[in-house]
Amino acid sequence: NNTDTIALVTGANKGIGLEVARQLGELGMTVLLGARDPGRGDEAVAKLRAEGLEVHQLTIDVTGEESVRAAAEQVGERFGRLDVLVNNAGISGGTRQTPGSVDLGVVREVFETNVFGVIRVTDAMLPLLRRSPAGRIVNVSSGTASMTHMTDPGHYFSRRPSVAGYPPSKAALNLLTIQYAKELRPLGILVNAIAPGACDTDFARDLGMSLPRTAAQGAAVAVRLATLGAEGPSGGFFDEDGPVPW
Ligand code: NDP
Repeated sequence: NNTDTIALVTGANKGIGLEVARQLGELGMTVLLGARDPGRGDEAVAKLRAEGLEVHQLTIDVTGEESVRAAAEQVGERFGRLDVLVNNAGISGGTRQTPGSVDLGVVREVFETNVFGVIRVTDAMLPLLRRSPAGRIVNVSSGTASMTHMTDPGHYFSRRPSVAGYPPSKAALNLLTIQYAKELRPLGILVNAIAPGACDTDFARDLGMSLPRTAAQGAAVAVRLATLGAEGPSGGFFDEDGPVPW
């Protein structure tokens, strides 16, 4: 019975996270929809519940020590364990990340959310994931984390404007993914990073970009790694087409 599977998605009130929550719910899982703003979280929960999905609001700001601690406590009290954790919450940091005129405050904020936030949430949830018979962690990274693509003159990433904060934050997240995968392998917890592809969400719109993929298409990549069988990979980086070169 899939409702016995408890899944938490951070930053799930909109964008790719909302679609991950929806798709995991459609698989019959009990979904904890993480949102830093309870009002925005409630609205998203109402939408998914109206579709008949088993979704609960969980207030969690990944940059807040107390918020994350309280969220883990609540999951423990209400559900007793966690089976799937999708670390989706992330920010671009906007402009002001051009090498030579970097606003270090912006870069710190990006790392606080995209990197330290993932460590904070994962460590807080780990005691609950240990109680799962088949824990799965998916870190939502980015194609821009691929050093191979970024340095390949034939790849379009190499022609994009240079950004000092966001791509390095996702590259750090990728290496973190490898470290957690190594550590958690003996527990049967599989940990992978994914690149959702260029999806049309507020993330992109706020940067003035109109991207070709839907949030649902991006979410499907995360869902695939969140539902791996016991023999599935761990410590990898995947997009829709399979492994992405580091
Ligand atoms: P959106 O901006 O649409 O959604 C981001 C979500 O993260 C929102 O729910 C936002 O909450 C939440 N969030 C931001 N900061 C925090 C925080 N401190 N604590 C908790 N939640 C937070 O972006 P996307 O859906 O596009 O992005 C989702 C993930 O996908 C990100 O990690 C992003 O880096 C990654 N990604 C996106 C790509 C794209 O093309 N869209 C491409 C590659 C990667 P709130 O509504 O309160 O701001």
